[in-house]
Amino acid sequence: MSEAEYLTVQEALTAVLAGVSVVSAEQVPLLEALGRVLAQDVVAQDSLPPFANSSMDGYALIAADLAAASQENPAILRVVGDVAAGAVQDVVVQRGTAVRIMTGAPVPPGANAVVPVEDTDEAWRNRERPLPEQIQVHRPVQPGDYIRHPGEDIESGQTILEKGHILRPQEVGVLASLGISYVSVIRRPRVAILATGDELLEVDQPLRPGKIRNSNGYTQAAQILALGAIPVQLGIAEDTETAVRQKLKVGLDANVDLFISSAGVSVGAYDVVKAVLEAEGNVGFWRVRMRPGKPLAYGTYHGIPYLGLPGNPVSAMVSFERFARAAIRKMAGHTQLDRPTLPVTVQNEIHSDGRESYIRAIVTPEGGTYQAQVTGDQGSHIMTSLVKANALLIVPEGVTFVPKGGQLTAWMLDWPETRF
Ligand code: AMP
Ligand code: MG
Repeated sequence: MSEAEYLTVQEALTAVLAGVSVVSAEQVPLLEALGRVLAQDVVAQDSLPPFANSSMDGYALIAADLAAASQENPAILRVVGDVAAGAVQDVVVQRGTAVRIMTGAPVPPGANAVVPVEDTDEAWRNRERPLPEQIQVHRPVQPGDYIRHPGEDIESGQTILEKGHILRPQEVGVLASLGISYVSVIRRPRVAILATGDELLEVDQPLRPGKIRNSNGYTQAAQILALGAIPVQLGIAEDTETAVRQKLKVGLDANVDLFISSAGVSVGAYDVVKAVLEAEGNVGFWRVRMRPGKPLAYGTYHGIPYLGLPGNPVSAMVSFERFARAAIRKMAGHTQLDRPTLPVTVQNEIHSDGRESYIRAIVTPEGGTYQAQVTGDQGSHIMTSLVKANALLIVPEGVTFVPKGGQLTAWMLDWPETRF
């Protein structure tokens, strides 16, 4: 067994991130790209709008015809055609004439402006009725009014999204408008999850003396899914080298990009994970100056990055938040790896042992500040204080006491329901 190294959270994070790289790209149908990172620049093959079109239901005409139009003295124009969205009108608009036009319909040749129907005597008439022979217009317009010009939004040939851009619904919409139905994005990392321990039962098994259910496997699968990655459940390995080896082999066969295990990395008689990893990998066992989440194993197993998290459910979840989350986001092509943080005022006294501590708390906006209330027992087996929390308050290394009213940084698991 190697001597455990003592590292700060930052040192451990730097080492973990140095060991993982962005996974390969793949071509996927547009909707499957949601939340993922573009692997290539996207160049527009069309302009948007593709053609000059009307932004209002109204009449396409020549602005000069309305120069003297007013409520009392309306301009009278002869209506020579009708153009609906999706249609094309070849009639040329000449002086003294107009073409009825719907929103999104192409502006007919000759016209240089649109007047909204509300500014004509057709305003309150049934728009289904036959085309009027003439209209009265009650106001002047400027050339270009109510016309959306081709290329106003996007010019053909323009790089519209750059490699590295995260695809949100609005990006998906832009790509759809450009006719891009497949897109090259970083693939979803495949992450194997292994729970270790003779005490563990599957979620659907009844409790027996001395046993607990494997909750970490579910927490971690959920964390991986929430990151847009793919969990590969390896299930439970008993505390024997053979069992651990067998399960890890399933992960290797499934071509995973990362292994995450929980438990079996602390100093204990049954910690067999170490033995397997030391025989078949290149793994370091660390003591991170962090609370919860002190023990951490990191390295490679048969060349695949391996992260061994502590067994206690809260320690496992917080270590995942701090290290695995950043690693998976890096693998998925993201550059913003940490959660957003907020400056908060604490409403409780907080004691720490000088390790960088992550305190479960609920953050709420109050009078222009964010107030943080500790959510209860901070034991590393107390899951309910995580259930109540929306944040982890970071007590920096070396700080052993934070008074009521003190300032801390909150690592936001979720945003507060309301913000100021
Ligand atoms: P260990 O690291 O093996 O000493 O485990 C530390 C603590 O975490 C023990 O109380 C274990 O029973 C608990 N534990 C380990 N694995 C899991 C798991 N998958 N789900 C829930 N609790 C676990
Ligand atoms: Mg154990």
